[in-house]
Amino acid sequence: MDLPIIYHPDYVVPLPEGHRFPMPKFRMLYEMLLADGVAQIEQFHTPTQPLQELIELVHTTEYVNAYCQGTLDTKAQRRIGLPWSPALAHRTCVAVGGTILTAKLALESGLACNTAGGTHHAFPNYGSGFCIFHDLAIASRVVQQSGLVKKILIIDLDVHQGDGTAFIFQGDDSVFTFSMHCEVNFPGTKQQSDLDVALPIGMEDDEYLQTLAKYLPDLLTEVKPDLIFYDAGVDPHIDDKLGKLALTNRGIYGRDMQVLTTCTKAGYPVACVIGGGYADDLTALTYRHSLLHRAAGEVYQQCRL
Ligand SMILES: [Zn+2]
Repeated sequence: MDLPIIYHPDYVVPLPEGHRFPMPKFRMLYEMLLADGVAQIEQFHTPTQPLQELIELVHTTEYVNAYCQGTLDTKAQRRIGLPWSPALAHRTCVAVGGTILTAKLALESGLACNTAGGTHHAFPNYGSGFCIFHDLAIASRVVQQSGLVKKILIIDLDVHQGDGTAFIFQGDDSVFTFSMHCEVNFPGTKQQSDLDVALPIGMEDDEYLQTLAKYLPDLLTEVKPDLIFYDAGVDPHIDDKLGKLALTNRGIYGRDMQVLTTCTKAGYPVACVIGGGYADDLTALTYRHSLLHRAAGEVYQQCRL
């Protein structure tokens, strides 16, 4: 067995010319993992679109209907930041299906990686910051409802605070939310996670990795989750257009190795999503995202999962 990786060709849909969301990166990631020999074709799993009732475990019926039917008002559309199309609505649901499948495969194999996901700015009744439906929250509810797990830990290392995650699971002891992000960044209004670590602008590799190491082991001991979701956003990278931290590729890879090794060696299954990443150089950006799958492949072999 090798590391399960989740991908669907429909992760990529056309956006208007010049749109700032780097949509092609999802297909480029799939292609890079194969071309670089990081993964073989047999390792890929294809998700399906989840039933609407599963999306409604987190989101209101009104919001799900309005989004899927393209009847959200202009203000709500603008807050999402992605132009609605039937293809994008379908893509949104397939990506949620991808994270649900990632969670199920992580429970079977110990570790699994999506090639999309991490839409952590979505709230129950509205979307925000390129996030429409909250894949991590929906997947959490789905695996909890199926009786496969009780306690979940969400480790969110995207450079932006997981505000939707914090809001959705506020006062819910069954899901522990941890967000380590740049303090001065989107979203303007932060929510309260179970543990927030706000980092100063410009933090570099070593200090970042030391900060993470200060929190991670205790967190595992304290929460003892049945499943961990890991949002491995690469927007803390120094060349990211929207992040304000200064990690290099070495730092991103070191971070992913630290998370996956610490969690896996302690026996906790980890479902990974790629999170945010923004750059004009799509090849460089895709490489940054691929560091997660490179690290996960390494850990998967090391730990003989
Ligand atoms: Zn982000």
